[in-house]
Amino acid sequence: MKQTLTLAFLGGAREVGRTSILLELEDMNILLDCGINLGIRGENRYPISPPKKPDIAIVSHAHLDHSGYIPVIARKYGCKIYATPPTQDISEILYIDLLKIAKECNEAPPFEVKDVMALRKYFIDSSYRTPIILHENTRLTMYRSGHILGSAMIKIETDDLSILYTGDLSMRNSKTLEMADIDVGKVDILIIESTYGHSSDKHPSRQKTEQEFIKTIEKTIKRGGKILIPAFAVGRAQEVMLTLESHMRSKALTNVPIYIDGMIKKINELYRIYWFYLRPQIRRAIRYAKRNPLESRLFTIVKDRDEPVEREEPCIIISTSGMLEGGPAMFYLKELGSDPKNLICLTGYQVPGTRGRRLLDGERKIELPKGGSIEVLAGVKMFDFSAHADQPSLFRFISYLRGLKKVFCIHGEEIKVLDFSERIKKNKKIEAYAPKVGERIPIQV
Ligand SMILES: [Zn+2]
Ligand SMILES: [Zn+2]
Repeated sequence: MKQTLTLAFLGGAREVGRTSILLELEDMNILLDCGINLGIRGENRYPISPPKKPDIAIVSHAHLDHSGYIPVIARKYGCKIYATPPTQDISEILYIDLLKIAKECNEAPPFEVKDVMALRKYFIDSSYRTPIILHENTRLTMYRSGHILGSAMIKIETDDLSILYTGDLSMRNSKTLEMADIDVGKVDILIIESTYGHSSDKHPSRQKTEQEFIKTIEKTIKRGGKILIPAFAVGRAQEVMLTLESHMRSKALTNVPIYIDGMIKKINELYRIYWFYLRPQIRRAIRYAKRNPLESRLFTIVKDRDEPVEREEPCIIISTSGMLEGGPAMFYLKELGSDPKNLICLTGYQVPGTRGRRLLDGERKIELPKGGSIEVLAGVKMFDFSAHADQPSLFRFISYLRGLKKVFCIHGEEIKVLDFSERIKKNKKIEAYAPKVGERIPIQV
């Protein structure tokens, strides 16, 4: 029997942010992710409405560009939401933080605290490699995606058809996580992220990035400067912390105080609770030696923000938000940004439109959320601690899949998804397409 499937791309197509896809099967509609675009105010900040009522939603991971609109979906449709337990707990923290930032910036958030709390009623736990029957012959299996704590690839199977949605994907082991699972069985249709999908996107080796990062920080310390590292609370902050910790322990980096501010502390607690999701080395350290490197005494949790700012000697501050869109990092930017001795280290992808991206693109007059602006004279450097696969790794992932018939490239700036889909067609001889937001594509299998 031939089965018809329709994919509706509601956001995150030819763009990064607000990722959401509706999978219309014959007997059920499944919403895959529902994120918000943090770099945009106004209309295109949220995904467009699904053309049909979703019966369930599945969340790949907690980052807000995948999960940010889920409280609205739960309120509107009252549907069950499948996610791993770390994804549920991390997203709850991120939602509350989003509400706080919205308040600081005088913006109207799309949901309220009570919508966030109500989510506990709708969430259903899922775990890696454990199939769940969704409806008669429709099954869901989640696989490790290597991106952040609890992140998953989502596989939906019926008797005739299998669809894999990668969410965000990493093909290399990080300090905390193992890379994506490549043993995912037969896949007919692949929906793949393309953040670094352009042929020019090739990550330097992690070792090289770390060396450069440490060298630059050491130079700043030597000239008496302070280092501000805006970092995403989930994933990037922990990678940066562990990199600094190991280099200070081995004396490759001068021992200066490392201040931790923002949501990072709360997220670190989840890393301890969900040690089972981490890579074996850290699991063992936490489980047997009761030594959690994220709780090393090299780190100081900020109680008084003036302390790191006013101290005479150099120090390092790791703080949210990672794209300088709010949070305590804005306070530090304001206080430290105009001193040419200091350094701002960006550590991850910066969505167009964000302050982080503007700095990276060379803008130096940066407006502040509460009005006024600052002339940034501090050094600005980008270190690619990315938790996304680059184009060669994305191709490597595709080559592990069996039976692939069609690929949809999403979650990438237009030039990237177009280049990536063209190359899949050319090099792999597989049908590939970069859909647009609002496109509804029927597929006969
Ligand atoms: Zn992500
Ligand atoms: Zn993403």
